[in-house]
Amino acid sequence: MVYFFAVNPLIFVSNPASKMPFFINVILPLPLEKHFTYSVSRDEAQFLRPGMRVAVPFGKSKIYTGIVAEVHQEDPVIYEAKPIEQILDKNPVVTEGQLKLWRWIASYYMCTEGEVLRAAIPSAFLLESETIVQLLKGAEVRDEDLTDDEFLLFEALQRQSSMKINEIVQLLDKKTVLPVINSLVEKKVVVVNQEIYEQYKPKVERYVKLHERFSEETAMHELLDELGRAPKQREVIFTLFGMSAKGKVKISELAKKSGASAAVIKALIEKGILTELKVETSRFNRDLEEVTGRVELNEHQRTALQEIHNAFKTQDVCLLHGITSSGKTEIYVELIEEAISKGKQVLYLLPEIALTAQLIARLQNYFGQKVLIYHSKYSVNERVEVYQNVLRNSENARIVIGVRSSIFLPFHDLGLIIVDEEHESTFKQYDPAPRYHARDVAVVLGKMQKAKVLLGSATPSLESYFNADHSKYTLVNLDRRFGNVLLPEIQIVDIKEKHRKKRMTGHFSDRLLEEIRETLDNNEQVILFQNRRGFSPILECNTCGHSPQCPNCDVSLTYHSHNNQLRCHYCGYHMAMQQKCMACGSDELSTKGFGTEQVETELKALFPNHKIGRMDQDTTRGKYGYEKIIEAFESGEVHILVGTQMVTKGLDFRNVRLVGIMNADTLLNFPDFRAHERSFQLMLQVAGRAGRTQKRGLVLIQTYNPHHQIVQQVSTNSYLEMYKEQLEDRRNYKYPPFYRLIRISLKGRDYSRVNEGADWLATSLKNTFRENVLGPEFPPVARIRNEYYKNILIKIPQRQSLSKTKDLLGRVLQSFKAIGAYRGVKTVINVDPY
Ligand code: ADP
Ligand code: ZN
Ligand code: ZN
Repeated sequence: MVYFFAVNPLIFVSNPASKMPFFINVILPLPLEKHFTYSVSRDEAQFLRPGMRVAVPFGKSKIYTGIVAEVHQEDPVIYEAKPIEQILDKNPVVTEGQLKLWRWIASYYMCTEGEVLRAAIPSAFLLESETIVQLLKGAEVRDEDLTDDEFLLFEALQRQSSMKINEIVQLLDKKTVLPVINSLVEKKVVVVNQEIYEQYKPKVERYVKLHERFSEETAMHELLDELGRAPKQREVIFTLFGMSAKGKVKISELAKKSGASAAVIKALIEKGILTELKVETSRFNRDLEEVTGRVELNEHQRTALQEIHNAFKTQDVCLLHGITSSGKTEIYVELIEEAISKGKQVLYLLPEIALTAQLIARLQNYFGQKVLIYHSKYSVNERVEVYQNVLRNSENARIVIGVRSSIFLPFHDLGLIIVDEEHESTFKQYDPAPRYHARDVAVVLGKMQKAKVLLGSATPSLESYFNADHSKYTLVNLDRRFGNVLLPEIQIVDIKEKHRKKRMTGHFSDRLLEEIRETLDNNEQVILFQNRRGFSPILECNTCGHSPQCPNCDVSLTYHSHNNQLRCHYCGYHMAMQQKCMACGSDELSTKGFGTEQVETELKALFPNHKIGRMDQDTTRGKYGYEKIIEAFESGEVHILVGTQMVTKGLDFRNVRLVGIMNADTLLNFPDFRAHERSFQLMLQVAGRAGRTQKRGLVLIQTYNPHHQIVQQVSTNSYLEMYKEQLEDRRNYKYPPFYRLIRISLKGRDYSRVNEGADWLATSLKNTFRENVLGPEFPPVARIRNEYYKNILIKIPQRQSLSKTKDLLGRVLQSFKAIGAYRGVKTVINVDPY
């Protein structure tokens, strides 16, 4: 698609303005406040359209790929516009709609369009002088398919593993090499800026079944007669019949059982006697029959669906508050079906794909080839492919399931956006800019594309529920579990009292142990939730109180028993576990707090005959680490699963009777205004993993504060009560949804400059915003990788104009940056921080 080509001079029609020079404004993938202007020829101006890529010089000797934002005739005056290097596209690769969304994001989240551009399109689209080009592993190409330049580069890359653009310029002895590279990327010969991603590949299994025309007995007899002369094939059919009369069987198993070679089975497929089916099992051994067919909605689901339809007649956004296991997914499926039958595209946003493999398998089973997945672990090439498919509006891009960055794809005609688990904080990008919230951008994108937006959650965010409460969104409730399965019973265990009565074994109360035993005795499974990884976060000296600190960050190191190390969770610094206190030499060291690893170790001692699995960032890092653990748990090989928040997310296991929350207090005491809301969401989500089938599940919450209102509200499943109470706090303490927040973080290597700079900035802001400026304050971890941090928070009341506030903040920041003493202090702005 991307070639350089001569601009046809015939398309140009001269007009009076043509005496004036022509310019284009270009968005460069750099944090520049404004578009950069370049000069173009008349012909180029005629040809160029917003959204096309151009290669342009920038700085002393650099070449960047930028996106045309505008073609015009206004001289920039302040600087002399340089000519472009060349045009890279025949057609725009960025749509007008995207450009509009970028502008909105840049303005709302106070960043530059260049930063949005970087996040929005695959890096392979943005070749620049520093780009590294490599041969694609296993690339197949015929010489005659390559131009001379392409061939030269192809050959050179076989000799040296990678080349920079500048080296390629020398090799080809021409200035304009980007089209050659772009073309080789398109032809799947080279890759650029390849990052080392683990590729996400669903596992495909091949099945066969007997063709339907043999379902009648006579046809079957005729077939067997016919195969009389092919005894091996006949044997296969007999074996297949023995395994499953009508359903499908795995080819590998059929071959094994019948002793037939793959060729024999292949012959039967070619004759049309057997039908081959490829099934993406997504590494889960869920009974396939169950997920293939469409299901019929029950009456509660039908009512909810009807309410959503009604809502969409008058409103653009609808919040589906459906308790865990109420069957929200089936409602989504219906809505998706309707949207695509109208020829529209659908975007289905998820917090994290790796955590929802089960759900993807379900959607792929319904919609097959129409589903595209946009995964955070996709390689550069996979990203390009998804992007191109959406851009071309191809048949296999009707439904895009993706993580937050998929809101940047070049949709043409979105009819529906679903934001599943809309309360999840992973929808917010923390670093780098744009620091956007994908749910909120989805609502804006929906408006721009005239698409309906459905937010779904069992535990909606306060913001969304507030919007529904105030008629900005429509609220639809689904408060029955599918199949009338009861919500689990939730009981609170007071571990302060248990400690006093000496009824604790390590971190387990007698009550929890008793229930684990009973569950295991009944061949059922247990999930234990502890919101910390590692063994026991902090090592402390009993004599002098010292605990080993990270030399680069202001945090204590955490103990990891499997490699006997002390590690920093912020920068990765690590050292061997200490036997003696580094400060006073005492050997009386003890550990404070506890993590998943310690829970696992204690369990192993308590239940030596049971298999225990652990799911946290440490155990899911490897290839398919996550899938392996889930698979082992789902197949029943693992009996107890211990994990961090990861175990709370949308998993649907059948045999879990008991969920234990090891300690609710670490959640509740987190220093953040959302801590209570989050604790409620986490606990209720993890509780939702228990008893998803007929037998009622049990959840035990261990806590030192059994009367804490959040623990109580979780135990009685009182979302509304939690909502009202939290809302009252938010109103009193001036937090969202009543006030908007903008956080300004200052960071730098020089402690006193950061400190003084923060004071200066806060004072300037207080001149205008008065008591609505908080800080400056050191965050809980005030030094990371040897940079000091200090935060200022601006609270914006509803009646105060957001855009004016931002303008003012922008101006204050500009003055700040002009002060020499504060050079080296960086400012990071986070609008709606999470
Ligand atoms: P939620 O997303 O609301 O937690 P799910 O959509 O995962 O709930 O549904 C819970 C379980 O109930 C799933 O195993 C799903 O297959 C099943 N289920 C939901 N609705 C139906 C239906 N109408 N017919 C058959 N099974 C259903
Ligand atoms: Zn000591
Ligand atoms: Zn560190």
